[in-house]
Amino acid sequence: MSHADHVRSRQKQIEQVPILGSIGRVLAENIVADRDFPPFPRATRDGYAVRSEDAERVPVELNVAGEVRAGGNLPAGFTRLASGEVLLIMTGAPVPDGADAIVMIEYTERSGQRVRVLRSVASGENVVPRGSEARQGSILVGEATVISHPQIALAASAGKSVIDVYSQPRVAILPTGDEVVPIDAQPAANQIRNSNSFSLAAQVISSGGEPVHLPIAPDERRRLRELIAQGLECDLLLLSGGVSAGEYDLVEDALAAFGAEFLFTGVEIQPGKPLVFGRARQRSNRERWTYFFGLPGNPISTMVTFQLFGRLFVRALAGASASAVTARKIRLGKDVKTKIGLTRFLPGKISGVWDDPEVELLTWQGSGDMAAFARADCLLVIPPDRESFKSGDWMTVIPIEG
Ligand code: AMP
Ligand code: MG
Repeated sequence: MSHADHVRSRQKQIEQVPILGSIGRVLAENIVADRDFPPFPRATRDGYAVRSEDAERVPVELNVAGEVRAGGNLPAGFTRLASGEVLLIMTGAPVPDGADAIVMIEYTERSGQRVRVLRSVASGENVVPRGSEARQGSILVGEATVISHPQIALAASAGKSVIDVYSQPRVAILPTGDEVVPIDAQPAANQIRNSNSFSLAAQVISSGGEPVHLPIAPDERRRLRELIAQGLECDLLLLSGGVSAGEYDLVEDALAAFGAEFLFTGVEIQPGKPLVFGRARQRSNRERWTYFFGLPGNPISTMVTFQLFGRLFVRALAGASASAVTARKIRLGKDVKTKIGLTRFLPGKISGVWDDPEVELLTWQGSGDMAAFARADCLLVIPPDRESFKSGDWMTVIPIEG
């Protein structure tokens, strides 16, 4: 079984949630059009419904046979627009049979029951034909779509106030390090508050998972193993710290005790080089594998490696169809000098007006500089084979996601 198949084979439960509870969740059903969209030929302008052939030569005077407004009915006894007739019509109203276009009100002069049409109109102009957006019974939003406001709009339009979504994957978060203390503790001078569990939990939530916090593991084999065993009972295990080459970096060893298969140990990127990824057997059921990421403990390394690798994995476990990291090209605002060797994902800030954006590299103190990272809105991607970039060069950026 390939790794992708493994991810797909997760026993996904289905839950029903109220429409607004579905934001950020993954659709477990198709949302189907319960009627044609639009359900009638819809006027998109205020004006006069005409037979376009009557308004071929302009100006022309035509008879006003009545009016129809959004949500209103055709005039009593009216069935079909006859030659030489028009109907006053409002945006959102059904275009009557016989009419094939709307002349905008701005291009007419009304006088009593007569109207002068000043501009000709093409057949179909300002009319959206019935069913042209979607036919009754067709799929508006497909299963496995991540739901945000456009999908909510369609669900609402199709009358769905309750939506089937996949249950969220449970993602265990295991921080490691003797120096790491809970965030409500007063750290001693040589201690660091556990920010990684929270930056990871925030990202897990925004990628459609449910974070499961484990206690902080000390750099000590027995306790670390005990907590890994707990973490492997979830759908995914994220560890932070302990994957570098130091004497007290025990995570890989501890995972090996669970029959871990390491799919990679190290990536040619900075920050995040020591990242490990693999799967290990659950203690409660040796037949079941749980995937893990061993994320480097430096706070920016943790966040960047989750953005690049973890996010899509959680999305896939949540049942979403395959997607890729979003990248864009933007011009550099200021020269950049870096080192060659690794692909770098550095804190960048996009500025400029919407049609002429530029990106600049923020000054930062390296992979621990959370303050600089919090000012960034993208990762500026520096290829490994060039050390100097000039203002105006096209650069790849990856927006930092929730
Ligand atoms: P490590 O990857 O274990 O060598 O840790 C690298 C750096 O990240 C060290 O400076 C750690 O103090 C820091 N660090 C490790 N875990 C955390 C955590 N949970 N929260 C904040 N900083 C951490
Ligand atoms: Mg450590």
